Amino acid sequence: MVKAIVGANWGDEGKGKITDMMAENSDIVVRFQGGANAGHTIVNHYGKFALHTLPSGVFYDHITSIIGNGVALNIPKLFEEYNEVVSKGVPAPKLLVSDRAQIVMPYHILFDKYEEERLGGKSFGSTKSGIAPFYSDKYAKIGFQVQELFDEQGLKEKLERVAQTKNVLLENLYHKPLLDVGELFDTLMEYKKMVEPYVCDTSLFLWNALKEGKTVLLEGQLGSLKDPDHGIYPMVTSSSTLAAYGAIGAGVPPYEIKEIVTVVKAYSSAVGAGAFVSEIFGDEADELRRRGGDGGEYGATTGRPRRMGWFDCVATKYGCRMQGTTDVAFTVLDVLGYLDKIPVCVGYEIDGKVTTDFPTTRLLERAKPVIEVLDGWKCDIRGIKNYEELPENCRRYIEFAEKHIGFPITMISNGPSREDIIYRESPLKK
Ligand code: GDP
Repeated sequence: MVKAIVGANWGDEGKGKITDMMAENSDIVVRFQGGANAGHTIVNHYGKFALHTLPSGVFYDHITSIIGNGVALNIPKLFEEYNEVVSKGVPAPKLLVSDRAQIVMPYHILFDKYEEERLGGKSFGSTKSGIAPFYSDKYAKIGFQVQELFDEQGLKEKLERVAQTKNVLLENLYHKPLLDVGELFDTLMEYKKMVEPYVCDTSLFLWNALKEGKTVLLEGQLGSLKDPDHGIYPMVTSSSTLAAYGAIGAGVPPYEIKEIVTVVKAYSSAVGAGAFVSEIFGDEADELRRRGGDGGEYGATTGRPRRMGWFDCVATKYGCRMQGTTDVAFTVLDVLGYLDKIPVCVGYEIDGKVTTDFPTTRLLERAKPVIEVLDGWKCDIRGIKNYEELPENCRRYIEFAEKHIGFPITMISNGPSREDIIYRESPLKK
């Protein structure tokens, strides 16, 4: 059986923690999209880790970690991370890399940087990891699959062709140094050496594992609102963040995805540009940012301060719907324990009309939040294991969120580590 763990919001919902936790009773964890542009922070008995490419199950001996075909694979970054994990005492991960995964080329990173520079004030707030140029090339059919590393002659010829078009842009648009095919080829041969022991047909591996009854987790990156089709286009990422895409990006049959655990954060945060209706500013935002997550809301990849906001029922209802949610994991709830009153965004007012349906970007930019204020619980809820033991106002907050989003909250995360989880029976779960 396959279970997907995905985000309902703008990312950073705590998917890494939930994946690490669910991996205990699973066999395989697959990354199916995105690249090293976002990160998951995981806290367990080995320490605190920021993973960007390795799936969040790497800390268990029994887990096979797979880089699926849908990933933007930065090979040196993958092995940097692999070595870091091992150097901190984690047993060497059982890693498999899809022979169809495509490689983030050094020039993708350069093009990402050059384009953001060129756009100046109109930039996307990219992490400059090469993700947009990578996926552009993939769909323009000039990307490089891992398996192409094993055909040196073909590789050289293709590099020549690709460099020709890239160099026109480098020379005339960006006024930057040109690509050197020999140098690129040598770099790719280094990549080949690193990746060779791990490359295989991962979709076949997964097919066989599923036939044997194994449990596979698909680990998403970012969240619904960053999906290129269903998110806040164009301020989105370049690969689909939805569970449905997991079937493609991992190479598993769609009917095998039986559970879709959508991770929802008890307040909002976002990185990069784009409309963010429930955003807050000033001291109010600074305090939530400082107290948020585990050690503050700063990007796991970039260290950038995240934009902060109150819980957004409109965006979350939509985000859960687009994921096909079977279960909601409601995370970082403990962080809100300092507030006397907790504002929640329950609707968007657009041109004088209130809606609870998430609109397209053009309208989203005009939306004003409709806020309801709930009473806080004013205490530390970390360490609580049973739903009934949570303070009444805290349960009210959870039930309020559940009612407005319309999907069952069956897990509540009240701290960064694996053990900080409360299971709940939801009236919405059939
Ligand atoms: P991801 O990309 O969705 O995995 O999210 P990130 O790792 O970027 O951000 C989530 C942050 O919140 C990390 O620092 C986690 O350690 C932390 N975290 C996850 N769940 C909880 C929780 O329930 N409470 C607290 N306080 N922190 C949490």
